Amino acid sequence: MHTHTTHKDDRNDPRALAAKPQFPRYSPGKDPEADLAYLLTECKKHLPKPDEDIITRAFRFCLDAHRNNKRASGEPYYVHLFEVALIVARELILDDISVAAALLHDVVEDNESYAVKDIAAQFGPAVAQIVDGVTKITDISQSREITQAESYRKLLLSLAKDLRVILIKFADRLHNMRTLDHLPPEKQRRIAQETLDIYAPFAHRFGLGQVKWELEDLAFKFLHRKEYDEIKRSLKETRRSREDYIRRFAEPIRKRLDQSRLKYEISGRPKHIFSIYNKMQARQKGIDELYDLFAVRIILDEADKNECFLIYGIVTEIYTPVPERFKDYISVPKKNGYQSLHTTVIGADGRRIEVQIRTHSMHEVAEKGVAAHFLYKAETLGLEPALADNDFEYWINWMRNIREYEGEEMLPQLMESFKLNLFPDEIHVFTPKGDIRKLPAGATPVDFAFDIHTKVGSHAIGAKVNGRIAPLDEKLQNGDEVEIITSKNPTTTRNWERFVVTHKAKSQIRRFFNEEKRQKTIEGRTLWERKSKKAKINIGEDELERIVVSLKYENKSEFYYALGSGTANIDIAIDVIKARLKSGATQLQLQSEVDFNVILHTARQTSGGVYLTGTAGGSADIVFTYAKCCNPIPGDDIIGVVITGRGIKVHRKLCKNMQHRLVAGNDDRIMPLEWASNEQGEFIAALRVAGDDRPGMLHDITNAIVSYKNTNIRNINISAAESVFEGVVTVFVRNTEHLSRLFERLRKIRGVKTAERFEG
Ligand code: MN
Repeated sequence: MHTHTTHKDDRNDPRALAAKPQFPRYSPGKDPEADLAYLLTECKKHLPKPDEDIITRAFRFCLDAHRNNKRASGEPYYVHLFEVALIVARELILDDISVAAALLHDVVEDNESYAVKDIAAQFGPAVAQIVDGVTKITDISQSREITQAESYRKLLLSLAKDLRVILIKFADRLHNMRTLDHLPPEKQRRIAQETLDIYAPFAHRFGLGQVKWELEDLAFKFLHRKEYDEIKRSLKETRRSREDYIRRFAEPIRKRLDQSRLKYEISGRPKHIFSIYNKMQARQKGIDELYDLFAVRIILDEADKNECFLIYGIVTEIYTPVPERFKDYISVPKKNGYQSLHTTVIGADGRRIEVQIRTHSMHEVAEKGVAAHFLYKAETLGLEPALADNDFEYWINWMRNIREYEGEEMLPQLMESFKLNLFPDEIHVFTPKGDIRKLPAGATPVDFAFDIHTKVGSHAIGAKVNGRIAPLDEKLQNGDEVEIITSKNPTTTRNWERFVVTHKAKSQIRRFFNEEKRQKTIEGRTLWERKSKKAKINIGEDELERIVVSLKYENKSEFYYALGSGTANIDIAIDVIKARLKSGATQLQLQSEVDFNVILHTARQTSGGVYLTGTAGGSADIVFTYAKCCNPIPGDDIIGVVITGRGIKVHRKLCKNMQHRLVAGNDDRIMPLEWASNEQGEFIAALRVAGDDRPGMLHDITNAIVSYKNTNIRNINISAAESVFEGVVTVFVRNTEHLSRLFERLRKIRGVKTAERFEG
């Protein structure tokens, strides 16, 4: 039987009462070879079959890489790495890969001459990836003030794709906190605050009870030195009497347990200093007035949970329990996997004593958290080891399940295959000022810009991601720093709708276009009112509505919008509506592309039409129709195809549909044609433009066309994918000369590769 009431030699450390593993004192830094030997011995003691070679090589590597570095304490720098590796090996109890990574964790950060790929070449990808992850976290934490702790924690977690990254970061932080004395007070406070805000909650979430307590107490010490010293002194002064009290308290329990033949440990420990401080704050009491400063813990070896309840029965037979203080974390474990029975009983003098009852394996989880299960053999798990899950609780549960199966073999490769992917649906990025913004995964600089402010979004013309110019549709990554470049004028384009992912960006873009549409509609209406008055068209709202609906506009305001945005030409519209009023021909059947066809028709009529070559315009009795495949306009070389009973269809000579007929020759249905006039009127032509996309491209194209002799654009349709764009612009031109001038201008635009006739 094995019983003791805690204690070890360090009488000054209040945690000596706690169930903290105690290790013999060892002072590294004098003889590196001796330090290496010590590290290897400890690794062999605590880890299953560690690869001594990789640890040895990592040790020598870091010794060399940091040969010129010293810690603030004046010790050689490698001492820090040695200590972190030691924490990893015997306090967190990870694996040999982690020990090697711990030794190398500052190499890339501190030393210009080493990159992650050098680590990979010498120690393999696993070690390199862990070092890379730790370095990224260190980078972010060094360069910024932490203001949004929760987002920051999530960000750090997402950066750690491997569980071991976070665990090594704990070890690193733990050692830095243990040796914080040597830094200037300003730095001490910053690091202590970060520890309290970020790392202690992390450790709690990972179920690392021991690490959490120590980090909290150390942080507290540097943030509230006076209070820390007071509580510490007070605990020390009352130590003897507390220990006596606990011994007397435990005596009857021990007697009963000895009869039960259960293997157990019983220990009394003061609560850690930070939690005592919090209690004093919460209850507004001095430390002398707090009676529940310590708890008694009963740990059962080789027992199951039913025996925990049995012990609970024994304890409460001896001491009266405080009913509302009973907590059964065995049936309902805490989210971080913690399992234990807690009860508070009334001891001698009416003091309340908290009693915790748990099995040894529950205790392992409580102290060492999820990492502890690697101590346990787990061969016949029947569980899926490579688990990438966003549900942390599910994950913790899974860890616990593994612990419950104890197989023949350790599964260090479990750690290898275990990839963290805790928040796959969100990313956290920084503003230039260091604020963290949470965005959905796949978010782009445009989403970020709208998240900052609607105005920033609607005026964005470019972005810098980590200082480099990036396209607006680039997918942002966790930890990116994003800066938006804005323009004086609104820059929102329809194209953005295709890649933004946030609701805010989507709705703001839509809103922008609705507003734009409203504006254009008003402009169109004003234009119509002015021009129709001039043309002496005097019709009521209802009649106008009827006519524009017969022209296949959905309603009046769609018609106004078409006028305002330039997709319909006001002069032609006036002509068409005038003609319509004259003929009263509301029954006229129009094609689906009605405004386009009406406009084409009107345009060609003003040209004086075409005639058969050699007839000098004398072919009035022939019906000419224009082919839709090539939309011939005056100036084009044209030919006609006789269609029995329907006159002649006019094509461009270059029309694709004509090539086989021309090549075949001798087709007597092909007629040579000429334009009656190419000097007056406007004709529609479609231009195809393509090239490299960039902000402002659409504007430059539009500008090149409109600024040349006030060319009217009927329609513009441009789409971009990746970094290229392609589009069709339909314009009104006077003749082919006019058209070729437009081509020249378009081809001069930076990025435009092609500008040519669009032939459908
Ligand atoms: Mn470090």
